Amino acid sequence: MKVYLDYSASTPVDKRVLDAMLPYFREHFGNASSIHSYGREAKYALEQARENIAQVIRAQPEEIYFTSGGTESDNWALTGYCINNKNRGNHIVTNNAEHHAVINTCKFLEAQGFEVTYLPIEPDGTLNLNELKDAVTGRTLIVSIMHVNNEIGTVNDLKAIGKVVKEKGAVFHTDGAQSFGKVPIDVNTMNIDMLSMSSHKLYGPKGVGVLYIRKGTNIAKLMYGGGHERNRRSGTENIPAIVGFGTAAKICKREMEKESKTLIELRTYFWDKIQENIPDVRLNGQWEQRLPGNLNVSFKDADGESVLLSLDLHGIAVSAGSACESGSIKPSHVITALKMPPEYAKSAIRFTLGRWTTRSELDYTVSVLKDIIERVRSLK
Ligand SMILES: *Cc1c(COP(=O)(O)O)cnc(C)c1O
Repeated sequence: MKVYLDYSASTPVDKRVLDAMLPYFREHFGNASSIHSYGREAKYALEQARENIAQVIRAQPEEIYFTSGGTESDNWALTGYCINNKNRGNHIVTNNAEHHAVINTCKFLEAQGFEVTYLPIEPDGTLNLNELKDAVTGRTLIVSIMHVNNEIGTVNDLKAIGKVVKEKGAVFHTDGAQSFGKVPIDVNTMNIDMLSMSSHKLYGPKGVGVLYIRKGTNIAKLMYGGGHERNRRSGTENIPAIVGFGTAAKICKREMEKESKTLIELRTYFWDKIQENIPDVRLNGQWEQRLPGNLNVSFKDADGESVLLSLDLHGIAVSAGSACESGSIKPSHVITALKMPPEYAKSAIRFTLGRWTTRSELDYTVSVLKDIIERVRSLK
């Protein structure tokens, strides 16, 4: 049996998304900048996708900028804003549980002379709002706090965070790669100025994403060239991928509520079964404000990498730490940030459920996991 429980690393392309994309490889292959009918077809599809994505977050279509993915969007938001506003301040506020696309961009900016505050997260994975209030000053240009954590699934309270950032007069960027299409987002009530999104986390193709940029935000261009994307990110648009992303977003918007309910039920079932069958387990990150499909669990005195490899031998795909740093045996920066007892820190396993996860897959996983944990523990 093959079981995929790593939907936060990437997702298969939904059949409906693939069907929408296919005509744009051969029949409607035009360059969206061309004036003839081929170009107009591509341009129309591009603007439809922009509209679909804008609707999910209550933005205007002209505030949607297509990029190559979440990483590019994060890089652009931070460097682009800091470069254009360095006369106004030199300070950035973020936290120590961000994705590396944000953390390593901040490290780069530090090397360029900007100052960065990395707020610590609480042991339950949440951000302390009072610490945020204290950290943001008149010299702060931008605050970058992710919406949903990719490892532990914690959903940050963007409304409360956005309010603090706005009161302090800074710009608010959020990495929504894990939340877009899965958790409701409203850029206006949440006071979001920039939002990063990625298509392959929500059943769309890889290599395409969006940076939402609120009208009036002073950000440097990312690519110089023919003037695409309102002259901020030049380069011929990847129409098939963009059509796929737009279709995936539309499906997610329509099915979000129902899908969340199903995933929470499945996850609760899974977590109950794990606790019934395996002693000394610990939930990482709080239960309540959590991405519906995320379950991150530590197994006392087990080595996460051994567990992952053993599960893989049984056809079960999960993640230990985060997928972007696979191969590393030490606890990820997020698990480290939770400050848990060392006998639990090395064995955090992320199970992420998705659109095609079934109960029988979860039953199989628990039965395999029970044997693996017993064996790994007996080797100690
Ligand atoms: C996946 C992910 C990214 C990177 O997105 P890509 O499209 O893979 O570049 C950034 N941030 C978070 C939180 C992610 O989960």
